[in-house]
Amino acid sequence: MEKRTPQTKVKVVVRVRPTLKDNVNTCVTAGGNTIQIVNHRNKEENLQYEFSSVYHETASQQIVFTECVEPLLKNAFQGQNVSVFAYGPTGAGKTHTMLGVLRDPGIIPRTVKSLFSMISEEVETAAVQSLPPPQHSVTFSYLEIYNEKVKDLLVSGSTDLPIREDASHNIFVSGLTEKAITDFEAFKDYFGPATSNRTVAATKLNECSSRSHSILMLKVLRKVQGRTYRGKIYLIDLAGSEDNRRTGNSGMRLKESFAINKSLFVLGEVVDAINHNQIRIPYRNSKLTRLLQDSIGGSCHSVMITNIAPEQHYYYDTYCTLNFATKSKKIVNVNTASVKDESPPASAKPTAKLPPAKRRSDV
Ligand code: ADP
Ligand code: MG
Repeated sequence: MEKRTPQTKVKVVVRVRPTLKDNVNTCVTAGGNTIQIVNHRNKEENLQYEFSSVYHETASQQIVFTECVEPLLKNAFQGQNVSVFAYGPTGAGKTHTMLGVLRDPGIIPRTVKSLFSMISEEVETAAVQSLPPPQHSVTFSYLEIYNEKVKDLLVSGSTDLPIREDASHNIFVSGLTEKAITDFEAFKDYFGPATSNRTVAATKLNECSSRSHSILMLKVLRKVQGRTYRGKIYLIDLAGSEDNRRTGNSGMRLKESFAINKSLFVLGEVVDAINHNQIRIPYRNSKLTRLLQDSIGGSCHSVMITNIAPEQHYYYDTYCTLNFATKSKKIVNVNTASVKDESPPASAKPTAKLPPAKRRSDV
């Protein structure tokens, strides 16, 4: 494959949520930067996956934000685009990671608060140093992609909005509401009511499973000493990645499933193409990746937080999620602790020890 100037890689981390009940069987072992799960094709072996970082069950919201997101906000201040997305099956902790709860807020509220404190700090520093006051403006948009349709969540009853590209290759959603916000309170006033506009539906796996990709966009304009910087931050709570053949979906739900799986599949291809510095990145193959075209890859800074649930009944979702998140894994022989490389991709070159790969539905 033809190569070009290296792109900024998408950082891929994993977060394992705590078990939600006592005394349940678990299937995940996290250690250092690795995750191990049993190889379902040979129970005497473990599959070991390595990531930039692994956040264990006890990892706080604060540490996830400080390590994964806070450094990127400086890039947005310098006029670069940033994207943060939570990937994983329904129930694995995506919404907890992105939104969190009032007493334990996640990445979205922490990002907004942090941006406004960065702004105040810059204004104060300029005042202390008797420099001309820097100017800032922050706008906020909130949308979802549901069934490959783009819907504005800041107005009720929004229909499909077109994704366009301007002469400078900036991607924008035509007609999307942008609200100027001057502090965290203003953000909360818009954000709270908007979340109720989201498309959610019950599935067998989770009563209130999110079937859509929820996308929050913050635009930061900064004028400092005659220079203007425009940065864009996407904070994305992706739809559940579960295998929908197992969730009992049919009809409308199944149609959604195909749309969800298509955009997640393309996102996986895009991340892979960027991280292997390929020349052709298939951004245009889904609405989600088309929207992110100017905010993932190139000189943009992105992190994918892969959420997994540790319970045994999530085994297959966890296995698929880890395979999606990294193409490289090792087989660890549990009895002798010997390790062999199985990358990439495992299914393309099965080792003699492994029986033939089972079909997904066999697992
Ligand atoms: P998803 O959005 O991926 O479907 P949720 O974020 O709704 O999953 O998480 C499922 C459940 O697990 C929720 O009740 C949530 O509060 C809880 N949960 C997820 N991650 C954590 C965590 N790190 N600590 C405590 N509870 C968590
Ligand atoms: Mg959710």
